[in-house]
Amino acid sequence: MENKNHFDYIICGGGASGLMLAQALSNDSYFDHKKILILEKEAKNSNDRTWCFWEEKNSAWDSIIHKQWDIAEFKASGFSKEIALDPFQYKMIRSVDFYKKIKSELASKPNITTLKEEVISIDDQKNRVTVLGKKEQYQGQKVFSSIPTTVHLEHKKKFPLLQQHFIGWFVKTEHPIFDPTTIQFMDFDLPQNGNTRFMYVLPFSEYEALVEYTLFSADLLKNEAYETAIKHYLNQKNAGEFTIEDREQGSIPMTAYPFWENNSPNIMHIGTAGGWTKASTGFTFQKSIRKTEEVIAFLKTDKGLNKMKQSNRFWFYDLLFLDVLSKHNEKGHMLFSLMFKKNKSERIFKFLDEQTTFLEELKIMLSFPVGLFVKALWKRIF
Ligand SMILES: Cc1cc2nc3c(=O)[nH]c(=O)nc-3n(C[C@H](O)[C@H](O)[C@H](O)COP(=O)(O)OP(=O)(O)OC[C@H]3O[C@@H](n4cnc5c(N)ncnc54)[C@H](O)[C@@H]3O)c2cc1C
Repeated sequence: MENKNHFDYIICGGGASGLMLAQALSNDSYFDHKKILILEKEAKNSNDRTWCFWEEKNSAWDSIIHKQWDIAEFKASGFSKEIALDPFQYKMIRSVDFYKKIKSELASKPNITTLKEEVISIDDQKNRVTVLGKKEQYQGQKVFSSIPTTVHLEHKKKFPLLQQHFIGWFVKTEHPIFDPTTIQFMDFDLPQNGNTRFMYVLPFSEYEALVEYTLFSADLLKNEAYETAIKHYLNQKNAGEFTIEDREQGSIPMTAYPFWENNSPNIMHIGTAGGWTKASTGFTFQKSIRKTEEVIAFLKTDKGLNKMKQSNRFWFYDLLFLDVLSKHNEKGHMLFSLMFKKNKSERIFKFLDEQTTFLEELKIMLSFPVGLFVKALWKRIF
C-alpha cells in the first residue's frame, strides 16, 4: 500500500520561492504524475511584505500587480536623474495576493498537498530524504528548502556580509507631496553617517506612499533611527500632518556566500536560503522567477540537485562589489551615483537583472573608480 507520507518532491517553506516552484511544477504536465508536498509553518493569509521588481509590460503576474510605475528617479547630493523605464515597468505585488493566487491554483491539483507544519530537520539518506516535522515525519525523493539559514554567518571573513535593512511606512499626508507617476528608486540626498543610506519611495497618489529608509550596511539600527529619518524626510518635503496606515520592516542578507554548495544530490536550498538574493542589491523576487525556470529544466535531466550550476560571472561581480562596499561602506552613494551618471538606464536595469552582454558590463565597470575594484580583484586572486 502506498505510504501517505511518501512524496516525490517536498517543498519546505511556502513563501515566495517555495510557492513559485510549486506553481511552476503544477503548470508543467511533465510533473503531473509526481506527488508533491508543501510544508509551511505559517497560515500565509496576511500581507507580510510587498515585493517590487522590474520586468517588461505584460507578464504572468499582471492579475495581481497592485501598482506599477513607468518612471523612476535616482537622486544624490547635487545630482538627480529621471529614468523612463521603458521597456520595463516597476511593479508591486502584495504578498497576500501572491499567496492567495498560488494557493487557489494549487488547491485544484490532485497531486499537490499543502500542510501547515513546522520543519525541524531535513536529512538526505542517499536513496531518499527524511523531513522531520513537528507533527509528523515525511519521506521525499527530492526536497527543496527555503527555510532561512545562518550558514553564511560562519563565512563572513571570506564572504563579507551586509544587510539591506529598512523600515517602511505606508503614509497618508496632509499635503500633496508625492508624484504618483514616479518612484524614488534611491534618494541618497540625506546624511550618510559613514554608511550607504537612502530613501526609497513608492507613491500611490499625491498623498499616499510607501516611504522606506534603507541601508546597505553591516549593522542594524534601533527602530527609532529609521523612524526619525522618515519623519525628517516627510517634514522636509512639507508633508504636514500624516498618518501611518501600515508598516513593513526587513533585513535581507547581502552576501556572495555560495549557499548552493550546501545542496546535496537530493536536497536543494532555494530562495534567499539558496543564494537567490542578488547580493549587491537584496532584490530576490525577479531572480527567483528565473531560478525557478532553471530548476524546472534541470529536474528533467534527472541529475543530482547539487549538480545544478548556480553561479555565473554576475556572482563574481557581486562578490567584488560587496568586497568594496563592506570595506568602504561610506562610498556607496558615490558608487551608485557614478553608475547612474555614466550609463544609460536600460543598461543599468539589465545589468542588475543579469541580462547584459560582456561589453555592456565592461561599460558599467568602467564607470567605477578602477583602483578600488582592482585592489579587491587582486585580493581575490592572490
Ligand atoms: C519586508 C520585506 C520586503 C521585501 N521586498 C522585496 C522587494 O520589494 N523586492 C525583492 O526582490 N525582494 C524583496 N524582499 C526580499 C525577498 O524577496 C523576500 O524575502 C522573499 O520573500 C524571499 O523568498 P524566500 O522564499 O526565500 O523566503 P520567504 O518568502 O520568507 O519564504 C520562506 C518560508 O519558509 C517558512 N518557514 C520558515 N521556517 C520554517 C520551518 N521551520 N518550517 C516550515 N516553514 C518554515 C516561512 O514561514 C516562509 O513562508 C523583501 C523582504 C522583506 C522581508
